[in-house]
Amino acid sequence: MAEGLKWMQCPVCKESIYWEVPKDSLKNVKRFPVPVIVKHKDHYLICYLDSHYQLADTEVAIVAVDGKEKQ
Ligand SMILES: [Zn+2]
Repeated sequence: MAEGLKWMQCPVCKESIYWEVPKDSLKNVKRFPVPVIVKHKDHYLICYLDSHYQLADTEVAIVAVDGKEKQ
């Protein structure tokens, strides 16, 4: 497995998925665990990474929509 790739079994459809740790984006993160949103097919997985980029927790969002801030 290439470095920076995470394997997990999708908790929704039970398929094996690989996803890449966005290391560049994580460089500026000061607080951990940090949620990384992984889109798999039509559902979303919220993968929490600790400061060693290890998977600390996973949440499932069957559907997600964009919310816009009102100024
Ligand atoms: Zn899935």
